[in-house]
Amino acid sequence: MEVKCAVCGQAVELAKWQQDFERLREHPGEQEPYVCETCQDRVRRDAQQAVSFPR
Ligand SMILES: [Zn+2]
Repeated sequence: MEVKCAVCGQAVELAKWQQDFERLREHPGEQEPYVCETCQDRVRRDAQQAVSFPR
């Protein structure tokens, strides 16, 4: 099963044992946009920076 990252658009192959695959398969009607590990890491870092530098 191949999904596309909602952030960078990169196609990622999901193996059966991966958690995201189970989630997508159990809820096909309400698919959350898939975000690859690289972008998840970037988002997490951005969130930490937002905490360090409040507006
Ligand atoms: Zn990505």
